[in-house]
Amino acid sequence: MLRFVLQLIRANIKVHFNNLLSRKQLLKMTQRRLIRGIRRAYYEVPFYKKLYDEWGVDIDEIKTLDDLRKLPFITKDDVREQFPNGIVSRKHDIADCHYSATTGSTGRSLPFVFTKSTFAFYIATGIRMYTMIGYRPWHKVVYIKYTKINYPRIGPFLRTQHIPSTIPVEEQIAMLRNSGVDLLLGYASLVYEIAQKVTPEDLKTIRPKFIGINSELSTKYQRDFISQVFGCPVYDEYSTEETWMVASQCREGHYHLFIDNVWVEFLDKNGNPVKPGEDGEIVLTTTRSNAMPFIRYKIGDIGRYSDRACSCGLGYPVLESFEGRADDSFIMPSGKYVSSLKLLNTFTKYIKKYLHLMEEFKIIQKEKGFVVIQLVKGREYNDRHFQEVIDSLNAIFAEPVTIKVEFVDNIDMKNSIKRKAIESWVRNNEKEPLLTSAV
Ligand SMILES: [Zn+2]
Repeated sequence: MLRFVLQLIRANIKVHFNNLLSRKQLLKMTQRRLIRGIRRAYYEVPFYKKLYDEWGVDIDEIKTLDDLRKLPFITKDDVREQFPNGIVSRKHDIADCHYSATTGSTGRSLPFVFTKSTFAFYIATGIRMYTMIGYRPWHKVVYIKYTKINYPRIGPFLRTQHIPSTIPVEEQIAMLRNSGVDLLLGYASLVYEIAQKVTPEDLKTIRPKFIGINSELSTKYQRDFISQVFGCPVYDEYSTEETWMVASQCREGHYHLFIDNVWVEFLDKNGNPVKPGEDGEIVLTTTRSNAMPFIRYKIGDIGRYSDRACSCGLGYPVLESFEGRADDSFIMPSGKYVSSLKLLNTFTKYIKKYLHLMEEFKIIQKEKGFVVIQLVKGREYNDRHFQEVIDSLNAIFAEPVTIKVEFVDNIDMKNSIKRKAIESWVRNNEKEPLLTSAV
């Protein structure tokens, strides 16, 4: 534990120091780390060795950020198929690593690991994101997530509290009332759901200084609504569970790409870099995850970058916009709004509990009272375990909704880049007036 605290302090000094670097210095540092990481992956990770040899990559020719174009892409399917023996470095023992799994927004489980020092770095980049907007170590952080993160606490500093994302919104509000929250963190749709439900009485004790929302696409309308209800600024971040921080908003409201953690490429459909201001597919390469590197990882999101400098003075490049996590939220027969993330997190919870219960899923709300789950069974599927998932969904809906399960061999993927796990056919224009009326 002491060792981890020291790693965390060191990582914090490092990532905050990076805020002082110019764009040119950051690029130079990123290039050095990236090239070193790719070479290491080639020699230590069986999957990359095999892949690059098949592609005829001469690893000694990979010297600059531009040379990345000589390397093939990898996808979530590759990672899933290769985990653990193919994709985890031979130099690292999984037992010593931090293990996690995600469904992302795709509805397919994705396991991954990182070392404790990488974990310290990831936490530090998270802390930096919040110090950028005014967080101080003595502030109380309350985060809404499906699982608890083992954040270390140092005396009166780094106090955190976990609120499960999968419990009903009323219980979340009750926990918030007693929390003394300064910085509230959570998925956009969940915080939005809370913002709709809190009463003036609740707001006497729930008084965050700032709110950070993450992991899914939020609309400006949602952010403004949350900000108005809680009377504090709302900052958005763009991160993935497997690579952690990709970008977040500075005080000027611009998204900065944290290239000291992950290198981001924006590519057209032929794999060529797009120009600033043009839509491109986002491809990520981690610079810190030696135990399980992601190199040219297609995340399935679209974004635009800008080559301008931000007036806040940070050297990290500016991300103009991004999209890709727009899962649909559900509207219940009574008009109640259920966040898509709450549904997604429920599945993630059981994917972690029963690793091979489901291979893939998709939840479609066809009518307000009728939901279909398309399910590709995992190799250890059983009805009793899946019934737990359905029971949890019924508890979240908390009103009569018919849930029908359809077993399928694969999930039809209409769009070649984006895959949506949660989809609502209840029309959007039925939702907006409802949401507005909740103000
Ligand atoms: Zn800025």
